[in-house]
Amino acid sequence: MAINLTTTSKITWCPGCPNSQILVSLRQVLQTMVAENKLRIEDVVMSAGIGCHGKITDYINMNSFTGLHGRVIPAMTGIKCANPKLTVIGSCGDGDAFSEGLEHLVHAARRNSDIKVFVHDNQLFALTTGQASSRSPKGFKGKSTPFGSIEEPFDPILTMLSVGATFVARTYAGDMKGTERVIRAAIEHKGFSFVDIIQPCITFFDTRDFLKERMYWIDEKESTGDLKKAIEIVTSVTDKIPLGIFLNTTKVTFEEQLHNL
Ligand code: SF4
Repeated sequence: MAINLTTTSKITWCPGCPNSQILVSLRQVLQTMVAENKLRIEDVVMSAGIGCHGKITDYINMNSFTGLHGRVIPAMTGIKCANPKLTVIGSCGDGDAFSEGLEHLVHAARRNSDIKVFVHDNQLFALTTGQASSRSPKGFKGKSTPFGSIEEPFDPILTMLSVGATFVARTYAGDMKGTERVIRAAIEHKGFSFVDIIQPCITFFDTRDFLKERMYWIDEKESTGDLKKAIEIVTSVTDKIPLGIFLNTTKVTFEEQLHNL
């Protein structure tokens, strides 16, 4: 059955913002999975946090919950615990997920909670007009770091691999076919899925040219079931940015264990 997930809400992202590409990719995946009878849209719930990304729940016509800054993941785990039959997906910003909400992210990954986390990673706080986040590169000049950030950026992929996430991937919002493939694999994965979606903020930190020269897709045949290989791939390059599914493995989920008690 073909469904239409668009809404009548006016899109207020800056014209050309790659958040729109993530929105279209996610809608496309959900529409395709529903058409193939792999999902019922009434069995899917989406959550989002605070930041430019958070508007996404206004633009997808489905059950959704927009929560507090950094608290996307507790809402998602609560929904999944209450009704394990639901598919629970969520969007966070990098400030949302890696600054305020980092402890929630780490513990949901460690528990293998069966939720799907998509980070719109633009390497700064964009909604508040351009302050450094934990993902901003060293030297980044923004409103809170006018002389350049003196901090090393947080590494979400290595962290997620290290704490036990069972699905870890990175994609680029501008590569919509690649993003659709990774989002679909994350939704189909049973267990905790983490996808870092590189999404340049074209208004406050336009990294598109920088990224184009450095991003490459890994050969996933080498990595997807092997944690050591995944860590080797993401740590072996310093001047390039690997994209792809680094790890896709299974273990019992938090909710399965909870409901077996
Ligand atoms: Fe997109 Fe940046 Fe504009 Fe926010 S401020 S809508 S992230 S381009």
